[in-house]
Amino acid sequence: MLSVSEAQAIVQQHARPLPPETAPLAPATLGLVLAEDVASDLDMPPYTKALMDGFAVRSADLPEGRAVLQIVDEVTAGQTPRLPVGPGQAVRIMTGAPLPSGADAVVMVERTELLEGNRVQIQDRPPKPGQNILARGQEMRRGEAVLPQGTVLRPQEFGILATVGRTAVRVHPRPRVALISTGDEVVEPTQTPGPGQIRNGNGTMLLAQVGRAGGGPYFLGIARDRLDSLRPLILEGLQASLLVLSGGVSAGKRDLVPEVLHELGVEAHFHKVEMKPGKPVLFGTRGQTLVFGLPGNPVSAFVCFELFVRPALRRLLGHAEPGPALVSAALAEDFACRTDRPTYHPARLETREQGWFVHPVAWFGSADLRGLTQANALVVFPAGEYHHRKGEVFSVIALDA
Ligand code: AMP
Ligand code: MG
Repeated sequence: MLSVSEAQAIVQQHARPLPPETAPLAPATLGLVLAEDVASDLDMPPYTKALMDGFAVRSADLPEGRAVLQIVDEVTAGQTPRLPVGPGQAVRIMTGAPLPSGADAVVMVERTELLEGNRVQIQDRPPKPGQNILARGQEMRRGEAVLPQGTVLRPQEFGILATVGRTAVRVHPRPRVALISTGDEVVEPTQTPGPGQIRNGNGTMLLAQVGRAGGGPYFLGIARDRLDSLRPLILEGLQASLLVLSGGVSAGKRDLVPEVLHELGVEAHFHKVEMKPGKPVLFGTRGQTLVFGLPGNPVSAFVCFELFVRPALRRLLGHAEPGPALVSAALAEDFACRTDRPTYHPARLETREQGWFVHPVAWFGSADLRGLTQANALVVFPAGEYHHRKGEVFSVIALDA
C-alpha cells in the first residue's frame, strides 16, 4: 500500500496552477496568488517628506541642538513649499508635507517652543541630516519590481498595489470545486432521519473545508448507491477543476463510486493509502479535472481532505508550498496506542514558552466527528503498540491556521 507521502507526491504530479485571470482588488481576491511581477509606476515617496509634525531645519545650524531660529513659512500635507530654508531659519512643517529646499532634517514639535516675533526655540539633541524625513524614492523607485509573481495577496500587498496605481492584477483564480455526497442512508440536514438514516454532515463540512482552503465550492446533491443516480451527478461534477465525493469508495457491495468514475473516463492514480482513518481514499484525473473519492466516515473524509485535497487546491491556486505543514511537538501526557497503520489522531496543539505541546483528545475513531470538534490539530502516531511517554516528540498538523 502507498504511504501518505507517496500518495501526496502523486497528487502534486497531477495538479497545475490554473491559468491566470485578471481580478480587482476586492475582498474576493484576498489570499490569491499573484501571477505577474508588479513594478512601481513612481518613486515612493514621490517627494522628500516630513515624517513628523515640527520644524524643517538645516542640521548645520544646530551643532549644540539648542538654538533660536526664525520661522519663514509653513507647509502642510498637500501643499508645495514656497520658500527655501536659509541659514538661521526654519519652516513649520506637518507630517507628509514636502521638505523645503535647504532643509535636511525635521525637529519634532515636542522638542520646540514658540517665541515672540515668529521665532522658535529648538531644544533637541543635535539633529543628524535625514532625521525624521523620508527621501524621494527611498521606499521604492519607478520601474522597480515591488511584488514578484507568487506573492500571496494580503492586506499589505493590496495597499502597495493601490499605491503603485494597480487596481486589478493577474492572479490564479479560485478553483471551482464540485461536491457530491453518496449513500442510500444519507438525508438532507433539514430532514429528521428515519430508521437507518443519517444526515449529510459531510456535505456541509467539506463545503467549509474547500472554502477555508481558498476554493469556490458548490454542492451537487446526494447521490444514491445506484449507477443511474451516481452517473449524472459525477458527469456534472467533472466539469469542475476539482470533484470531491464522500462515501462509496470502500469495499462494500454498494460502493459503486470507483466503478462509475472508471466508466466515465476517470483514470485512477491510487485507491487506498496506508493511513488511519481514511485508508480507502481514491484519487484520479480526467483531463484537467482532479477527482477525490473520500471515505464516508466523517473524520476519514475530513483527514483525507486536509492531507490530499487541500494540497491539490493550493497547487491549483499557485501556492509554492502545498502543505500540510508539520510541526514537532512534545507529548503533554503519557499516551498508550495500538494501531496497524500510521494514525492521524485528533489533538490539541498548544504553544508554551518552552515550545509546542500536543494533547491527544478522547476519540472513538473515524465515525466520531464530535471528538474532532475538541481538536485543533492531528498528531501522527506510527503503526504498532506503544506506551508513548510524556515529552516524546511527534509530528503534528495544525488545522486552524
Ligand atoms: P461509506 O464510505 O459510504 O461506506 O460510508 C462510511 C460511513 O460513513 C457510513 O457509516 C455512512 O453512513 C457514513 N457516511 C457516509 N456519507 C456520509 C455523509 N455524507 N455524512 C455523514 N456520514 C456519512
Ligand atoms: Mg456509502
